[in-house]
Amino acid sequence: MRLGKHVSIAGGIDKALDRAVKIGCNAVQIFASNPRSWQAKDLDPATVKSFIAGRNELDINPVVVHAIYLINIASPGEEVRKKSLQALKTDYRRSVKIGADYLVFHPGSHTGSGIERGIKKIAAGINEVLAEIQGSTWLLLENVAGAGTQLGASFAELNSIINQLEEPERVGVCLDTCHSYSAGYNLTREEGLDRLLAEFAEAGPGLDKLKILHINDSLYELGSNKDEHAHIGEGKIGREGFSLIVNRQEFQNLPLILETPWFDDREDDPDVDLIKSLRQEEEI
Ligand code: MN
Ligand code: MN
Ligand code: ZN
Repeated sequence: MRLGKHVSIAGGIDKALDRAVKIGCNAVQIFASNPRSWQAKDLDPATVKSFIAGRNELDINPVVVHAIYLINIASPGEEVRKKSLQALKTDYRRSVKIGADYLVFHPGSHTGSGIERGIKKIAAGINEVLAEIQGSTWLLLENVAGAGTQLGASFAELNSIINQLEEPERVGVCLDTCHSYSAGYNLTREEGLDRLLAEFAEAGPGLDKLKILHINDSLYELGSNKDEHAHIGEGKIGREGFSLIVNRQEFQNLPLILETPWFDDREDDPDVDLIKSLRQEEEI
């Protein structure tokens, strides 16, 4: 099993690797720049080198980058969209530079301009980024909880975006369990997982596009459209829900990435340990 957690890059991106290993992970997710700022300082070449060497030595796989939160390439506003595209390009360039396998980002919100227009803008934005920057890093659309005018809570929307791409072979999907649950997919039950997977395969992008799972419990109830992560077993999905999820056959070869709160006061990570104990297989 490949299991990772989103960890801090304080002190440099190479420091993130040690944080992941320390809590028992063999995969990692990081921000490549400050998630709440449009400005990005240049990556220090020595740090990049040390990151790549460390990642190989420690066998950290995959390396996932999460794009900054401010990005909205679906925005009808010229200024926001321009800044968003610039930021996504910066994150993509950085991801390629550090040898990341995936760059995950949220499709965006149409803010009243309509679903179809929003989807067009997202696809056009992805096309622009990938035409401008070559690299083997996959761009992953993350499904969202569906608050307000957010796009990409439904698998059909993710599919329409991918259908408008010029290089769809460079784009996949990251499925977040908290977002799926909040968007109304009940993955706490076998039948709910059946429905989710059937919809993903039929109306959605298809299971071959599913590259990673974000495993987060949800503070809010099914269909709430609210995005608030809880520790595994402490939210509405619960320990039994995660037992079904992590043992589901279709998910067996997918890397699992936790985005649950960090435990500052301890050396281990109970979420990592719980996921390992729920997974019915050999030790990782
Ligand atoms: Mn996300
Ligand atoms: Mn997520
Ligand atoms: Zn979330």
